[in-house]
Amino acid sequence: MSIALSHEEEMLRDTVRQFFADEIIPHEEHVDTLGEVPEALGREITDKARALGLYAANMPESAGGGGLNHTQMSIVEREFGRTSHALHSWIARPTELLLACQDDQIATYLTPCVTGEKRELFALTEPEAGSDAMGMRTTAKRDGADWILNGMKHFISAPTMADFAIVFAVTGMDDTPRGPRKRITAFLVDRDMPGVVFREGNKCVSNRGYKTYELQFDDVRLGAGHVLGEEGKGFELAGQWLGMGRIWVGATCCGRAERLLELATDWAANRKQFGKPIGNFQATGFRLADMSIGLRAADLMVRDAVQRADAGNLKDQDAAMVKVFCSEMLGRTADDAVQIFGGMGLMEELPIQRLWRDARIERIWDGTSEIQRHIITRSILRPLGA
Ligand SMILES: Cc1cc2nc3c(=O)[nH]c(=O)nc-3n(C[C@H](O)[C@H](O)[C@H](O)COP(=O)(O)OP(=O)(O)OC[C@H]3O[C@@H](n4cnc5c(N)ncnc54)[C@H](O)[C@@H]3O)c2cc1C
Repeated sequence: MSIALSHEEEMLRDTVRQFFADEIIPHEEHVDTLGEVPEALGREITDKARALGLYAANMPESAGGGGLNHTQMSIVEREFGRTSHALHSWIARPTELLLACQDDQIATYLTPCVTGEKRELFALTEPEAGSDAMGMRTTAKRDGADWILNGMKHFISAPTMADFAIVFAVTGMDDTPRGPRKRITAFLVDRDMPGVVFREGNKCVSNRGYKTYELQFDDVRLGAGHVLGEEGKGFELAGQWLGMGRIWVGATCCGRAERLLELATDWAANRKQFGKPIGNFQATGFRLADMSIGLRAADLMVRDAVQRADAGNLKDQDAAMVKVFCSEMLGRTADDAVQIFGGMGLMEELPIQRLWRDARIERIWDGTSEIQRHIITRSILRPLGA
């Protein structure tokens, strides 16, 4: 296996990199300071990305998307990682869960997300149910052919207010060989339905300008057409998407680490102390060496995972390993970059402190490092019955 890109892959990378250099990087500092992406700027990025064919690049051509395979998409995601999340998230990669849409759901939810007319939220986390997603309290109870949804979600993130959410709710209990288990179903819930409130939530210091929302559901009546996929199979559906989401986190971590490494290398070569470039001091030079080793290994892990995904044999533990390794590699890289910059690393005048703040979320969202290690441990021990 090699991380060397083919000619076509290089062209894809260069096209995306140039687009980001022109349309995103010039606005990064302003957006971070403002804590907000001005709506007009976000829409402009969306429109230009759509014209370039970069919008919904992850979705199959049959659904109107760009039809990139996982290997190609990882190249795009790596480029995304080099830039501001708050800005690049205006270029949607709609959740693949929407491919479970059927009948009228396709025209109402899937297609508008691919064309950019609508945006979705992925709403799993609750105040009392973060890592322990099964601890969720949101319920949907049968009422004739309908469902009545009650509960709340938080930390549900998006670049701007979305039109609807994919909401996970408890719809009963199942008996399993491992004991009773909550039955989880995914629902498509519109923001303008009676009983639904979407409001801005906590402000995050990583990726300033990217929003989190709180979602409140009070006796929301949902017809059968609002169930996404099969009733009681919400977790299986989410599981298919979460695995790839963790690979995309890995790829973006590689992009961000590469940018940090470039900035730190330039500083180490040009900043002089004791009459010579600080990179000539072994303590600094070795940091650059370690950053490079970490990045190379992380890139290889992502490449391996997307090749497995393209071959249809990506396992949960593969995705978990990528998420842990790449996000922790980025954490070390960001910290080392601050150290190499010294005091200037923490000053608002330079982007290092922003990239350092932005790096921190990667070990938390999409499942914390601890939860990923649980997944890996389970895959090792479960075959032995432990
Ligand atoms: C900016 C942002 C955006 C997000 N976007 C979304 C979104 O769009 N949709 C969505 O559904 N969710 C989203 N999340 C939620 C995210 O996935 C959760 O924050 C994450 O899963 C952790 O949950 P928690 O924050 O409640 O932490 P907790 O679960 O309370 O964990 C706190 C600490 O305890 C540790 N811990 C918990 N259980 C164990 C265990 N069994 N073993 C060892 N350690 C453990 C954790 O690893 C962590 O270190 C977002 C979060 C953030 C911060």
